[in-house]
Amino acid sequence: MRSLADYRQIVGDDVIHSICLKARNLYGKHVLHLNSTYQGGGVAEMLVSLLPLMNDTGLDAGWRILHGHPDFFTITKKFHNALQGDAVNLTPIKKRLYVQANEDFSVYTHVDHDCVIIHDPQPLPLIMFYKKRQPWVWRCHIDLSSPNAELWEYLKHFIIRYDAVVISNQAYRKDDLPVEQRVVYPAIDPLAPKNIKLSEKDVTKYLKKFDVPTDKPFITQVSRFDKHKDPSGAIRIFKKVRDNVDCRLVLCGSMATDDPEALQIYETLARKARHEIEAGDVVLTTLENDILVNVLQETAAVILQKSKKEGFGLAVTEALWKGKAVVASRVGGIPLQLEDGVNGFLLEPDDEDGFADRLVKVLEDPSLAGELGAHGRETVREKFLITRLVADHLDLLNDLLT
Ligand code: UDP
Repeated sequence: MRSLADYRQIVGDDVIHSICLKARNLYGKHVLHLNSTYQGGGVAEMLVSLLPLMNDTGLDAGWRILHGHPDFFTITKKFHNALQGDAVNLTPIKKRLYVQANEDFSVYTHVDHDCVIIHDPQPLPLIMFYKKRQPWVWRCHIDLSSPNAELWEYLKHFIIRYDAVVISNQAYRKDDLPVEQRVVYPAIDPLAPKNIKLSEKDVTKYLKKFDVPTDKPFITQVSRFDKHKDPSGAIRIFKKVRDNVDCRLVLCGSMATDDPEALQIYETLARKARHEIEAGDVVLTTLENDILVNVLQETAAVILQKSKKEGFGLAVTEALWKGKAVVASRVGGIPLQLEDGVNGFLLEPDDEDGFADRLVKVLEDPSLAGELGAHGRETVREKFLITRLVADHLDLLNDLLT
């Protein structure tokens, strides 16, 4: 198990000491994080690293998962998409199933903590089913800049009972919400298996084991199979790039247990790109394997993130930390991490020619790739490491509990 002291070598003694000071008034405080999946996607990724470090500061932090049947996750995925702007048919039955799953869970889940932190929309209604004895925080990881108005109005019914809302970007702040809203940027764990520096021997072993050919340079996109991550757009862009540079595209996308659309998106994609897949030009992987993600990011000549919506985009952060040049859409949290021409390239999501042009530029110029990548690693070191996230959580808890 990693401890705070292990991060001294990366962030320095002052950062670790200031985290210890922030925890002084919080020793033994019992904090509950609750979301809807242990695995897949950025939220689970962060909680895996955050919880042990919070406990290492002297808190007593726990993590529970909301149980739901497939219908529930189908509905909450529609809500997820609609919070990012899609239309939704908000029928009484959908509302009933959404709330009912939360009520059922509350019957066998005791909450006697000092603070409750609820992640994303799936467990949002839980607050209705407890006698409130502590502050509740809604931590929303989604791009809230243009939610479907009807759904937003409905969800506000629950949100206004919370003591604070935490969002990932100033641009997601809602004027029509009376609840305190604070911005906390997500972060990556530099000591997690996904982000550590691997030996060449391990990299070679993994590429061989998972049949990823290395005779040509490849472009990697790491994303759940989700329409807002636009994997089809990534393939269209790849075809334009390949007209100029002989290369491959690797799309790495595991299936989160709370995302019922992923399999269908994967199957449609695999059907449409059958020709490229059979020719070995496009490689799709669906395995949940952190070392494989690390290897695919580390070995890529350039990283692509062709999202149409992106709450923050931890996959971008991970690539920047590995010193990779990233070509990505100017959406959601990505511009918080990427400065165009400095540590990568930013493009409008519809500008597929622009994407292809920048990818070709990086593929043809390894020194440009190296320069962008070096800046990217420093950006992450300054702003997006897990130690900063621990400090932000301690600040939040100090404000709410002391
Ligand atoms: N991820 C993974 N395997 C995959 C696809 C994604 O481990 O096949 C991880 C990725 O490395 C990152 C997280 O899932 O840590 C995705 O977070 P991001 O913020 O980019 O997007 P989200 O899925 O939360 O919308």
